[in-house]
Amino acid sequence: MMKTLQTVLEETPQQRVILDDTLARMSEAQNFVVASCYEHEETNTFRMHHFTYPVLRKKFGLPAQLAVVANKYACSAVKGAVRKKGRQPVFSGRAIHYDARSSSISLEKGLASLLTPRGRVKVRFTIPKYFQKFVMWKIKESNLVRCRDRKYRLMISIEKITIKSRKTGKVVGVDRGINNIIATSDGWLHDSIHVFEIKRHYVSLRGRLQSKGTPSARRHLKKLSGKEKRFMRDVNHCLSRRLIDSAEKDGVIVLENLKGVRNVRHRRKQNWLFSNWAFYQLEQFLAYKAEESGVAVEFIPARDTSKTCSICGIRGQRHGSIFRCKACGAVLNADLNAAKNILHRYTPLTGCCQPAYCNAEKAVTSH
Ligand SMILES: [Zn+2]
Repeated sequence: MMKTLQTVLEETPQQRVILDDTLARMSEAQNFVVASCYEHEETNTFRMHHFTYPVLRKKFGLPAQLAVVANKYACSAVKGAVRKKGRQPVFSGRAIHYDARSSSISLEKGLASLLTPRGRVKVRFTIPKYFQKFVMWKIKESNLVRCRDRKYRLMISIEKITIKSRKTGKVVGVDRGINNIIATSDGWLHDSIHVFEIKRHYVSLRGRLQSKGTPSARRHLKKLSGKEKRFMRDVNHCLSRRLIDSAEKDGVIVLENLKGVRNVRHRRKQNWLFSNWAFYQLEQFLAYKAEESGVAVEFIPARDTSKTCSICGIRGQRHGSIFRCKACGAVLNADLNAAKNILHRYTPLTGCCQPAYCNAEKAVTSH
């Protein structure tokens, strides 16, 4: 599937001068190629390349890749005009075509590096909210366009890449919680201290601004909300990337399904996650990064994952961040224990004198 993302460039005034100049030179160069096509009565791109390339490089000062592009598009415009018996085409300098060699674009970072006669220009751009979900798609090519409203837009053609996980690789159970935002069954803990500090900072700042209520305070509030969202998005991007990497291709990431849970304890956890963390966003990021990397994301019902011993399967007790099992004497990090239980629900231990697992609800069974 292909799509075109329309993004607005946030070029600096200096960059704008360079882009304006690039567009102008490109159109002059292309008009030159058009003229020489008619002069030589030739529209073949390769043969024209011999005539035009040295001139495009020297006279118009184009970098190699842009010279190739200028020649190619001018030739195909002439070809079209000749076929339709139309007039000689004229390039007005409103757009440049960029391919993978003449540009590199990071949708995640919102950064485009575009080739110009004065070297590569790194320009920021914003992706409209609706298109955020496409940021992991593969970039095919792009067009830099100077629109009527004087803004530069980069039209980026993207293609979706999906790799289906065969679910034969590593399975990682993931617990999402309060002390640790993420705990995985293979032992990775991402504690919430840093996120909380930043969150607290935003909360107190917001409180102060709200009590002021002046127009400038309101403006700041708006800015602040954007900043906070960007911070959460960044955290979620990092976490989801790390999780996908830990599962690797054909692996499975197992999460608790926290939607519609009746249990009070779970509801508390769910409420906390909803109000303190862009929590669906992480699931969304995980889903699309997983599709791209051949990792499956599966959900198991959220029940008793924090109250069961991940070693013997018998109910134990959680004391703060520690889980103790009276039956087998295990003392475990509570969140790691939960993550291991989530893993076992998906791939139940077999052979078994572990009633909790045997009776575990029909976790997703694909093994
Ligand atoms: Zn135990």
